[in-house]
Amino acid sequence: MAATLIDGKAIGAAIRRAVAGRVAALPFRPGLRVVRVGDDPASGVYVRNKDRAAAEAGFDSTTLHLPGTTEEAALLAEVARLNADAAVDGILVQLPLPRHIDAARIIAAVAPEKDVDGFHPLNAGRLATGGGGLVPCTPKGVMHLLRAAGCALPGARAVVLGRSAIVGRPMAQLLLAADCTVTVAHSRTRDLAAECRRAEILVAAVGRAEMVRGDWIADGAIVIDVGINRTADGRLVGDVAFAEASRHAAAITPVPGGVGPMTIACLLENTLEAAVARRGA
Ligand code: NAP
Repeated sequence: MAATLIDGKAIGAAIRRAVAGRVAALPFRPGLRVVRVGDDPASGVYVRNKDRAAAEAGFDSTTLHLPGTTEEAALLAEVARLNADAAVDGILVQLPLPRHIDAARIIAAVAPEKDVDGFHPLNAGRLATGGGGLVPCTPKGVMHLLRAAGCALPGARAVVLGRSAIVGRPMAQLLLAADCTVTVAHSRTRDLAAECRRAEILVAAVGRAEMVRGDWIADGAIVIDVGINRTADGRLVGDVAFAEASRHAAAITPVPGGVGPMTIACLLENTLEAAVARRGA
């Protein structure tokens, strides 16, 4: 039986409309500042998409594009200025940063209440100890997708492939908070295929084109593919071999059009949440 497609484009658009509706009812425009350093082309695409989505939702959004030669101290000064600016509710420093800048130091310098990426150690700690902070956008988006797909979360066996600070780890925390039984697999895991086969919910975030094969998927599983990979022949594919997996899964996200649109939708949600919390609206 072919899997149902989980349509991130449609689900993300519904979230964006809901955010726009709430923004329109506020007595102020939430302010988002995206900081881009250097000319990484993929970052350019992400930043433009974020800017457009934020403007459409009624935010006061601007991108600060700094040269790739910007010193770490100058970037820290820029972040401090945005932290102190009362019109700014959300700050996002686009990663990756040039190699001469310590990304962890920059992330830790963003005021936690304006950290709409949810990467600040305080927000990561809050997520790990019961919530209440801003949550990283991509895993938050995955939770929206699972709920929209009607997935029964409590007690479900969930496997997260990947343990990065921005996707895998917060993903595992969110699934745990939703009462799933969570396994986190990574590059040192023995027999990845066997771990995946036990999953009722499989979230793949490894960054390896079509690594997860059809026979790794249990019949009836829900499969969320976070991966975005460019193949040698120029195709955009996920971490899951989509056609093969679709023969086993009950529901699956496509790439593109699955998790990608959710990340931006959740950035808008986070910015709205940060604005409302900070301004007491
Ligand atoms: P990352 O920082 O490179 O982390 C990859 C993780 O996968 C690591 O934990 C690594 O294990 C594990 N891994 C790598 N190769 C593996 C293998 N052969 N077997 C098992 N585990 C393996 O990547 P990321 O930032 O989490 O991103 C993951 C993917 O999601 C990428 O394709 C990225 O482009 C995509 N992404 C998409 C969105 C979106 O909006 N859709 C947002 C963010 C990221 P170790 O820890 O052991 O090294």
